[in-house]
Amino acid sequence: MEKWLNSTFSRQTYVSLPAEADTMTAHNKERTKAMPVTKKHNYSLRKHNTFGLDIKANQYVSYDSVDELVEVLAEITTSSQPMLHIGSGSNLLFTQDFAGTILHSGIQSIKTIAHHGDEVLVRAGAGIVWDDFCALMAQLNWYGTENLSHIPGEVGAAAVQNIGAYGVEVGSIVHEVETIEVSTGRPRVFQATECHYDYRDSIFKHRHGEYIVTAVVFRLSTTPRVHLDYGALQQLRNNDPVPSTQTIRDAVIAIRESKLPSPDRLGSAGSFFKNPVISIEAYAGLLRTYPGMPHYPVDERQVKVPAAWLIEQCGLKGRCHGGAAVYERQPLILVNKNHATPSDIVALAEQVKESVYQKFNIQLQPEVNYI
Ligand SMILES: Cc1cc2nc3c(=O)[nH]c(=O)nc-3n(C[C@H](O)[C@H](O)[C@H](O)COP(=O)(O)OP(=O)(O)OC[C@H]3O[C@@H](n4cnc5c(N)ncnc54)[C@H](O)[C@@H]3O)c2cc1C
Repeated sequence: MEKWLNSTFSRQTYVSLPAEADTMTAHNKERTKAMPVTKKHNYSLRKHNTFGLDIKANQYVSYDSVDELVEVLAEITTSSQPMLHIGSGSNLLFTQDFAGTILHSGIQSIKTIAHHGDEVLVRAGAGIVWDDFCALMAQLNWYGTENLSHIPGEVGAAAVQNIGAYGVEVGSIVHEVETIEVSTGRPRVFQATECHYDYRDSIFKHRHGEYIVTAVVFRLSTTPRVHLDYGALQQLRNNDPVPSTQTIRDAVIAIRESKLPSPDRLGSAGSFFKNPVISIEAYAGLLRTYPGMPHYPVDERQVKVPAAWLIEQCGLKGRCHGGAAVYERQPLILVNKNHATPSDIVALAEQVKESVYQKFNIQLQPEVNYI
């Protein structure tokens, strides 16, 4: 893995498009029809946030190309109103109506830009649904995205959020991220090392609103590079030491469907809190009181503790506040159980944080973006 990530990939070595790229382009063309810039005013974002909150934006603008984005930015940056770029809204908690412009990318182009040994670089537009991209990669049996299958959201946000699941973070397969700088409208490409990827973190979170991701170049592998250390995935090795991307993808989807609420049926934003990272000393102290406390090593000085376990120990599974609830099957998730308002969710999150702090002296940090 290390060798793969560190190997250099110069633009001069790019080769002509492989046959697979045509398939991908054709698939994509079929799936998306070009649409003009869409502008809507006093617009409900209910369908654009997976909590399903009925909040309104002054303006909602959807564009389909980098040129259109630059034009739109030239218009809206002259206004003093705030601007927020969203994907599918699967990691957002709107706490009130948004008195500004919501931007959304419809950039759907996808192509293979290089083959080099067993590595392949694939450039995907920011507006592509992340799981559609994973499905395509699985069809091609190109390794890299399979453990990240079925995560809601779009390609652009995946690179902002550094999405992760089952032992893989997207930062490990990002080659570069193409952006537009909001203040100037100029393109800027971030190499993977410049993105400062960390646990659910990237430079784009720290410089939020400064850059809009327009495309992401992924570095995938045509030969197996599998990550099957996560519990239920380990057994895949029993049937086949080198399972295909599709086999891994199917297993990941099955696990996710058994544990996580589908946003179509039950509103949520996935894991509401990050798993806290604490010092080894603090962990050793807690272990004396809670001998069963699970942990994962981070480095020589720190460990990560599953936030779900902490919340469960506080007896909060199923706890409701107004229409919001702590999900019974996975207490790290807060759900919109019954017409929750933003303040129901905010209040429930505060209760969870407070309970965990009182019991364990650990401060939970939200993974969800409060808007
Ligand atoms: C049921 C469920 C399960 C989930 N499981 C996981 C999981 O396993 N692992 C995981 O990591 N996450 C998970 N999530 C969280 C979520 O899917 C990810 O954070 C996802 O990347 C968000 O994508 P989005 O397109 O919905 O982005 P949004 O939620 O719309 O936006 C997220 C952030 O990205 C910014 N952004 C969006 N698009 C762009 C762009 N083009 N340029 C610049 N900034 C942009 C937004 O401003 C915001 O700050 C889950 C969510 C749900 C609802």
